[in-house]
Amino acid sequence: MMKGSLLIPQMLERAEQFFPKKEVVSRTGGGVQRITYKEIGARTRQLADMLTKAGVQEGDKVGTLAWNHHRHLELYFGVPGIGAVVHTINIRLSAEHIIFIINHAEDKLLFVDDDVFPLVEQVFDQLTTVEKVIVMTDEQALPETKIENVFSYEDWIAEGDASTSFRKDLDETAPAGMCFTSATTGNPKGVEYTHRSTVLHSMSLALADSAAVSESDSIMPVVPMFHVNAWGIPYAAVWMGAEQVMPGPRFTPELLAGMIASEKVTVAAGVPTIWLALLKELEQNKQDVSSLRAVLCGGSAAPAGMIRTFEETYGVPFLHAYGMTETSPLATVSRLKSYQQDLSTEEKLDIRARQGILVPGLEMRVVGEHGEAAWNDEEMGELQLRGPWIADQYYKDERSEEAFSDGWLHTGDVCTVDEEGVIKIVDRTKDLIKSGGEWISSVDLENALMAHPAVFEASVVAVPDPEWQERPVACVVLHDGAEADKEAVLDHLRPDFAKWWLPDDVLFFEEIPKTSVGKFLKRALRDQVEAIYNR
Ligand code: AMP
Repeated sequence: MMKGSLLIPQMLERAEQFFPKKEVVSRTGGGVQRITYKEIGARTRQLADMLTKAGVQEGDKVGTLAWNHHRHLELYFGVPGIGAVVHTINIRLSAEHIIFIINHAEDKLLFVDDDVFPLVEQVFDQLTTVEKVIVMTDEQALPETKIENVFSYEDWIAEGDASTSFRKDLDETAPAGMCFTSATTGNPKGVEYTHRSTVLHSMSLALADSAAVSESDSIMPVVPMFHVNAWGIPYAAVWMGAEQVMPGPRFTPELLAGMIASEKVTVAAGVPTIWLALLKELEQNKQDVSSLRAVLCGGSAAPAGMIRTFEETYGVPFLHAYGMTETSPLATVSRLKSYQQDLSTEEKLDIRARQGILVPGLEMRVVGEHGEAAWNDEEMGELQLRGPWIADQYYKDERSEEAFSDGWLHTGDVCTVDEEGVIKIVDRTKDLIKSGGEWISSVDLENALMAHPAVFEASVVAVPDPEWQERPVACVVLHDGAEADKEAVLDHLRPDFAKWWLPDDVLFFEEIPKTSVGKFLKRALRDQVEAIYNR
């Protein structure tokens, strides 16, 4: 067989060749634009030409601070197209972390949305490697600024040659993309994706038993393009020639619902908090979301109650997946096997609320205190993964040794595995609650709490206990206008949990603190709970 290299630009070339008429619907600060893959291809070639003229060389890092829109998509292909590395930066991180990651990655150019530009101005004098800033504005006019070497994206690429070729001679194992993931302590950790890993990961997203990304889809990545490359969806969607709907800056649930209806979106991807907010919106304002063939959800456990509401109230199939920055991210997808279709509704829901089975191409093992955990749905252990789209180190970071020892990625997620090989994440290693020497899964309690009709969101944290070492406390946000007290909440849990699993207390909150990518921020929540008890 021939040994063809797997390169990112080839995916765009396929879209240009076979799907030039297919569109990207892109919402930017200035409104909604429709751009065909033919136009995206030409603009990306202009971008690639200008990057080369700006002195960007193979292996150089190019940073982005941007929302989901067509210009960001052009960077996804244009930067690797000349052998450089597209480094997507989370715009919601603290200024301190943003400075750290730009300097650590040694970004040479920065591409920034106009509404994020003030942040860059604020930290610019602490950036040690950035030579130019290109502002991705709809206006030709640039914001007034003291920074030198600031350009407008549209003016800048207009000078590039639309017939520029992408590099064909690149090493498929060379880095092409980069994302940082937050650490519980210390600076964020960088992960580099290669051309090969990105292409293989895109193929795994297109498999029928995974997300089945196809030409016939209209895909809306709500998950930000700075969060594990929007889970790799933009790459897979371009390759397959799917239409994409990019929701742009500062979108609201109302706007998402409107775009799903007007663009007949078939797959929408995001974290559970997004889908909880969308359900709340749909309750108040009816919108036609029947075009959806899948709500793809990952990043945190999808509560069974939410899956049920999407499917039973709105007739929208739900697809629960699991992964992390280090895994590109797709690692497992939860689907029923053919012979499980006749199970009861509750049994099926229980399976689908789990994280599912490993996608083809990866290997897993679950390592507990006494070696590999048995597949009996009971023994817990840390999930460890390896495969062609799993990272083998953090970027120039001594924490690599701990996370990637003996050829496996140690995910830090604790899970059980049932007889079918379906994993169930029971917690992050650090979030498990150790009560009297036994483990309590905060995730199990949270899922059960969120199935209570009055509960909008719930998070369970450990509080120190002199007798038991740690005990669970539930932090609950009720739906607007709904009522429930501590006893009602505990009564709801009682039938499903051993007595010692029941939270010692139920605290009611207006809001649960979230991370920059919409997950519960347990560290901050633990501090709030501690402050309440020490009052
Ligand atoms: P990130 O690198 O920011 O994408 O975070 C990855 C982490 O999110 C994983 O290690 C898990 O702890 C968590 N996670 C991702 N998907 C799921 C899921 N479907 N269920 C439970 N936890 C998840």
